[in-house]
Amino acid sequence: MSSQPTKPADVGGLEQRYLTFVDKLVARGRELVAEAVPQLQQMVAASDDINDLAPRRVAAAVTTQFEELRAKATQVLTEQILSPDLSFQGLLRLNTWVGSRDICTARCEQLTRLTIRWREQVERAAQPDYVSEYRKVLAEFDATKDSYRCQQCGSPLTIDRIFVIDVYVTCPQCQTQSHFAPSTAARALNHVAIFLARQLHADYLDANDSLAQQLDQLEDRWYDIKMQRGAKAERQQLRDQMVHMTQLFDRNYQEFLAVVYRDLQQMFPENTVHYQQQYALELGRHQEGTAERQRVISQMAGR
Ligand SMILES: [Zn+2]
Repeated sequence: MSSQPTKPADVGGLEQRYLTFVDKLVARGRELVAEAVPQLQQMVAASDDINDLAPRRVAAAVTTQFEELRAKATQVLTEQILSPDLSFQGLLRLNTWVGSRDICTARCEQLTRLTIRWREQVERAAQPDYVSEYRKVLAEFDATKDSYRCQQCGSPLTIDRIFVIDVYVTCPQCQTQSHFAPSTAARALNHVAIFLARQLHADYLDANDSLAQQLDQLEDRWYDIKMQRGAKAERQQLRDQMVHMTQLFDRNYQEFLAVVYRDLQQMFPENTVHYQQQYALELGRHQEGTAERQRVISQMAGR
């Protein structure tokens, strides 16, 4: 057997084929989101049971398909692009090849980020309508708020906001503490308060979805140009736009978290400590995501 190295793979062709392949997976993922979101919204609207699991099951099935798309992209990347044999052959055209591997890896990472966002969109669409549940509890509270009486002396007691956990109210007349238990619906709200507050400020999430879509389009365009191997100036311009968009996205999401947790503390002050911890956690996670995004964009500059 000859030890002569095999002819180097057609590196450009391989890169092109891989990027086209991932394009198709991305297109399929977008189709799935476009089909699933309205379907889930209809299911949720048609159900008046906030414990209805059907929409969540559909969302889980769709999410599994995203995971399959991501797995396919990763598998082909590993086997055909990053495999040791090919990189050995590629030594002959090292620069082109390393560049190609980076581009293919970056495109695969982009698909991973997309699948995370698609999953969030689908899960959001599958969520029960907590806002209308909350309105029911508020209406129930309005109807009963003037009827609370001291369990000892019968004097009227003032309860100034809805309560979602057991409360004890001191009677101004006899100083006895009376115990009140929340209704089942009110108690259930306590467990979904964070989702409720997010739904109350869904406009921020809609704005972020739209910014994320614009970012996707810029990134898609960047890869299109990159595949055609040219237009460095336009790619630079796209990168600047992506940096700007990421800053808008970051600011909007931080404002969103701030209003969500401000509301939560106002609505359910008994849980303030828990909300402060959750806020710190979510903010930290968001900041990590932003840093990761900025790292990716700054790497795109060098390509
Ligand atoms: Zn009393």
